[in-house]
Amino acid sequence: MGYQASSDRYATMKYNRVGRSGLKIPAVSLGLWHNFGGIDTFENGRALVRHAFDLGITHFDLANNYGPPPGSAEEMFGRLLATDMKPYRDEMVISTKAGYGMWAGPYGDFGSRKYLISSLDQSLTRMGLDYVDIFYHHRPDPETPLEETMMALDQIVRSGKALYVGVSNYRAPEAKEAIRILKQLGTPLLIHQPRYSMFDRWIEDGLQDVLEEGGVGSIVFSPLEQGLLTNKYLGGIPKDSRAAGASVFLNENNITAEKLDKVRRLNDIAAERGQSLAQMALAWVLRGERVTSVLVGASKVGQLDDNVEMLNNLAFSSEELSRIEQILKS
Ligand code: NDP
Repeated sequence: MGYQASSDRYATMKYNRVGRSGLKIPAVSLGLWHNFGGIDTFENGRALVRHAFDLGITHFDLANNYGPPPGSAEEMFGRLLATDMKPYRDEMVISTKAGYGMWAGPYGDFGSRKYLISSLDQSLTRMGLDYVDIFYHHRPDPETPLEETMMALDQIVRSGKALYVGVSNYRAPEAKEAIRILKQLGTPLLIHQPRYSMFDRWIEDGLQDVLEEGGVGSIVFSPLEQGLLTNKYLGGIPKDSRAAGASVFLNENNITAEKLDKVRRLNDIAAERGQSLAQMALAWVLRGERVTSVLVGASKVGQLDDNVEMLNNLAFSSEELSRIEQILKS
């Protein structure tokens, strides 16, 4: 059946300005790393994207290698654009990336101009798009001069294949240098995509200051620690969870008794606040307005409702924040 977006899709979502740019993105964005590959059910992915858009989630995050197999998430998204979302293209912010190993040989990995430009061309073909809104360098390359990688990003914007550029997983000094070079080239760095959650706070140690000074936004990935910062693992590992699947990033071994003890105590505070732990974990990431958007994944439509609902309770008392701090430090 044809898709008609909900007429009140802009009623409740909050849109935050990305750094000192003209672009706004939703406080909650959807990533297609898991659940949108060739091994996944097309109809579930379709339901997730439709529902996200109906909730005002206008930003969809991809990468060349998302699947599995690599490339299949972009293909799936391209199919969805063709069947459902094309009429809404100008209401969407679509991003993709290159930086991890994508094809064999010396030109399918890291940060050369050769790799980035050909990879983006492939991504555009898979998605059936003329341009993406944001193109990222996915991870720092210790060997390619940063100037070359940044010049490739600048060239990509000038050629019209991306409207803005970002970097991901860059540490504070690398990000600072990237900001400087891109400014000189005349294509400002729009956004940084680091990992950030209650359990992984490295960006507080310098990166956030660099981004603020540079007028660069941030969209943080795995804000729920891939599901661990929800109540789902408190009673064991559910069969339909990421940890029960083939993920090498989240499995039984990562879900330690020590982490679960913290999750349980955090869950109690969330309950006192009248929200789910997922909601509190996301609201906590957005506290102080230093983060532009939380980039969540979802395997079920109901998770999107749960996550977006947190926008109704974003405020923390100083007492709540210090209790959370104690748990995280324990
Ligand atoms: P999250 O930490 O949000 O984890 C998402 C997973 O948590 C879901 O797939 C689901 O797992 C579970 N979940 C989500 N909401 C709920 C809820 N309300 N209640 C219970 N469980 C819930 O993020 P991801 O790790 O998936 O990363 C998000 C995105 O970030 C990716 O899609 C990608 O776009 C980006 N990313 C970027 C990286 C980079 O290097 N730049 C690296 C990694 C991710 P389940 O299957 O168990 O239901």
